[in-house]
Amino acid sequence: MVAGLVAWLGHDPRQVNKIRDIELKLRSVSDRDLLEILVTKNQSESRQLSLAVMEVDRRGGEAALRARLEPIRRAVLKPIGFWQGCGSDFDYPQPEWLTQPGWANADATSVLAYLRTGHACRRYLGYDDCRFPGCTDGDRIGSKEFTDGEWVWPEGLGHYVERHSIILPGEFCAKMRQSGWAVPPPNPQFALQLRYHAFDYDRSFWIDWSLKVGRTRSGIGQKGSTAQRLKECG
Ligand SMILES: [Zn+2]
Repeated sequence: MVAGLVAWLGHDPRQVNKIRDIELKLRSVSDRDLLEILVTKNQSESRQLSLAVMEVDRRGGEAALRARLEPIRRAVLKPIGFWQGCGSDFDYPQPEWLTQPGWANADATSVLAYLRTGHACRRYLGYDDCRFPGCTDGDRIGSKEFTDGEWVWPEGLGHYVERHSIILPGEFCAKMRQSGWAVPPPNPQFALQLRYHAFDYDRSFWIDWSLKVGRTRSGIGQKGSTAQRLKECG
């Protein structure tokens, strides 16, 4: 294959030497770094990518490489700010249950900054729209999920807090405060988890907390039956 590339480039010695250089460098990179070149292929120069694919084949193929690597330990994240949908999220709250104007007071700006600067851990092709009927700036409020390594929330949660005064759990507020209102930078393990989305979600905290808060508010927050929800979803 390399010989084929050399032939294709003609006999320009500079180009041939450059290919040989890249080939030699790739021989010495770790399996993990080699896979990273494939994962981040949009950022790789096409010639380097072609040579990386050849080097992967020389080492037995991508599946063999992945099998040789230490498995990445999956982190368990706690979701917040997810709402009932027409998928499998019947246990999630409705945002109307959790409004409380002025709750963040002096910390409001810091809370919003934190919510908007999480590490993107999942991206969707479509956009979220605000769930509040008639919201004038509620179109396309997010298409990602953010995490700080412990909690995970939709990109649009900042909109709900800013425009609709959605309250957040005290445990999450304590984490923001302890972190100096700045999302901590990822350590090497967390960076790997982000790159390969090695996360599981434990939904129980958000479901229990939002239901408890909703039930203390004049009977709102009662969970409807699955059958009723399915009917509403058509
Ligand atoms: Zn809105």
